[in-house]
Amino acid sequence: MTQLGIYVQIPFCQTKCTYCNFHTGVVSSARFSPYVEALCAEIRGYEELYRSAGVALPEGFEKAAVDTVYIGGGTPSLLEPGLLQRVMDEIRGRFGNELHEVTLEADPETVETGKAAAWVSAGINRVSFGVQSFSDKELVGAGRMHRRADIYRAVPILREAGIRNISFDLIAGLPYQTKESWRDSLEELGKLGPEHVSVYLLEVDEGSRLGKELLAGGARYSAGAVPGDDEMAEFYETACEFLGDLGYHHYEISNWAKPGFESTHNLKYLRREPYLGFGAGAHSFSGTQRWANAHDAADYVSAIQAERLPVEQREPVTRESALEEELFLGLRQLDGIDVGRIERVYGVSLAPRFEGLESAGLVKRDGNVVRLAPAKLSVSNEVFVELMR
Ligand code: SF4
Repeated sequence: MTQLGIYVQIPFCQTKCTYCNFHTGVVSSARFSPYVEALCAEIRGYEELYRSAGVALPEGFEKAAVDTVYIGGGTPSLLEPGLLQRVMDEIRGRFGNELHEVTLEADPETVETGKAAAWVSAGINRVSFGVQSFSDKELVGAGRMHRRADIYRAVPILREAGIRNISFDLIAGLPYQTKESWRDSLEELGKLGPEHVSVYLLEVDEGSRLGKELLAGGARYSAGAVPGDDEMAEFYETACEFLGDLGYHHYEISNWAKPGFESTHNLKYLRREPYLGFGAGAHSFSGTQRWANAHDAADYVSAIQAERLPVEQREPVTRESALEEELFLGLRQLDGIDVGRIERVYGVSLAPRFEGLESAGLVKRDGNVVRLAPAKLSVSNEVFVELMR
């Protein structure tokens, strides 16, 4: 039987970080409860809502069991724990109790003893912790709410509450970051010993205030203090070495885990397994279709109150797009792509596609397995552009 993942989007934050390119908003807390009510209504009535929005679930999908839940955002840890409990009760009522991995994204300044205990009793067993950096100068420069001290305060609270699986996010490329400060962040991370680590490179695009400023050549939002591409690549490579020495398994371009702590939910995305996304802007994948809800939280709430699902994008997954996804997602994983399997499933020969990449040193072939060349992990986007040509 298919094991489904569920993603729940909570699109609210306390402030907007300068580098943030997500659809999240800073709103009055009075809007949290109506949003959660809408979410619960979507979870309860999803089959009917999908039908009326033109989303066709494959046959037998209603029997699929759910084993992972990921509550992301935004800053879902901002919500009153009772609201998160409502969401979890609704998920269990609709999809059963066999939840193996339930992740909550939490920002350090929002963690409190009472809240952490309530998260655990709601069934949350993994926290994805928005550390980003241990340098106050970098945190201030990026417009983050927390400081280094909040990280040290929050981790023991989570541990004492019974969270045995914590993931730290770090960002390489924040304004004011230096070789030394990056090394310090990695060392402090090592002392706190999370089970899982994600390292993201700062994204420069029109979607964030900092990105826009950098593209325009301006200096606001500490744009002048953003490290260059070569430095960022060096930070990433330092992380690869450092985390490898600490015994973390590098299983995806941006993700490392202590043995057995790879994120089951994230692996579903990488392995093209089905998941349902609930909430404003949430994306879903049934195996045959991809779709996304409207981003605007207020529009989402009004539509659900009117018993309508505001689907913004709806695309069938064609054979060609499925093959592109297999290649792109396969190369993101350090285990690489099983070329023989893909050739059998899709009836194609991949040799012409990989020959050029291999001779350019972008990928490595080892029998039937193709992987990104280790030196190209930090510039994977360039490889993907070549791959999709
Ligand atoms: S906390 Fe996360 S989602 Fe919220 S503004 Fe900052 S980066 Fe964006």
